[in-house]
Amino acid sequence: MNPHEVKQCFPIMNVPIYGKRLVYLDNAATAQKPVQVIEALEAFYRMANANVHRGVHYLGAKATDMYEAAREKVRAFIRASEAAEIVFTRGTTSALNLIASGYGRLVLCEGDEIVISLAEHHSNLIPWEQAAKAAGATLKFIPLQEDGTITPEAVRSVVTPRTKIAALHHISNVLGDVVPLREIAGIVHAHGGVLVVDGAQGAPHSPVDVGQMDCDFYVFSGHKMCGPTGIGVLYGKRPLLEQLVPVEYGGEMVESVDAEWASWKELPYRLEAGTPLIAGAIGLGAAIDFLAQIGMEKIERHDRRLVGYALERLQELKECKVLGPLRHRTSILTFQLGEIHPHDLATVLDAEGIAIRAGYHCAQPLAKWFGQAATARASLYLYNTEEDVDALILGLKKAQDLFR
Ligand code: PLP
Repeated sequence: MNPHEVKQCFPIMNVPIYGKRLVYLDNAATAQKPVQVIEALEAFYRMANANVHRGVHYLGAKATDMYEAAREKVRAFIRASEAAEIVFTRGTTSALNLIASGYGRLVLCEGDEIVISLAEHHSNLIPWEQAAKAAGATLKFIPLQEDGTITPEAVRSVVTPRTKIAALHHISNVLGDVVPLREIAGIVHAHGGVLVVDGAQGAPHSPVDVGQMDCDFYVFSGHKMCGPTGIGVLYGKRPLLEQLVPVEYGGEMVESVDAEWASWKELPYRLEAGTPLIAGAIGLGAAIDFLAQIGMEKIERHDRRLVGYALERLQELKECKVLGPLRHRTSILTFQLGEIHPHDLATVLDAEGIAIRAGYHCAQPLAKWFGQAATARASLYLYNTEEDVDALILGLKKAQDLFR
């Protein structure tokens, strides 16, 4: 895989930023879109636009076929056993809310436990806070290692027979560490609980096999893996999805409706009320084709190699403190550079055409746990090169000179 060639598929990379070359290092927030995805969206609206699962006309059938073909691509991408286990949502956040409301509130009773960690994105924390509050259940936090990571032993120390749900990230959006989910699934299942995986950073950066992982739910967003915004995926094992209570009702999801009652369609349609984001799903399918053609193993190797190079180069800078593990991490580097405020850092870099993120990265409890205020985050993806990392280091050195 040649990241220079990959970069050429992304038209935005040619947009001058204050007259400079774009160095896009904010991929954990959202990834850029290749021409293949942009063209798939345009082709749908130009040549196939119609609503799905309704019209008996030519375009209605074509749009439905394209939408369902996208579902099949998602199924193959995460190796689910059937397309009925793939529910389209607006993204990771809406999928997690759906599980917390539609499944969590169904199974949780007073005194039950939800196991999570302080390293979760707010989207995988707040829905569980709310579900726990509604049921009188307790949130239990996995003790983090010194570098903020999660071990199976730490999970074992908090899971009990009262644990109905454990909800964890696959790859942290702050630390870039990969959670050993296969082993954790075994621990949670041995106590009768289900494992919900927030794959927002996992699906874009590593091959996913939900069967091998043995998670019960796996959710992710299209926009972080080169797809459009507003489309995401909720995978669930069939028996669990069948129990999940819909949180939205209306057209598309009903089998039969009378004045005082209604019955729901089979999976996955009963969890997709209303007109779905048809073009978004088709665009996500095109993003999956794009990633699959390169190969997720190659993308994962590229990300890890490049993050290793970036870590090495960051160490050249005096007073650079990187959060998280120094090994076994992927794509994300969160750091503090001496006393320089991360917003100042991001502003100096922006003037050089370099996009990074500054702040809490939607994980305030983790920042507090580290005793850290805001931090800077550079996150890499398949089109980033060593030259991009070199530009970052140069920009950081410039900031150090400026604030000396
Ligand atoms: N979980 C993680 C780990 C994330 O990084 C993000 C986004 O940054 C989310 C959840 C929320 O994703 P979205 O805003 O696409 O719903």
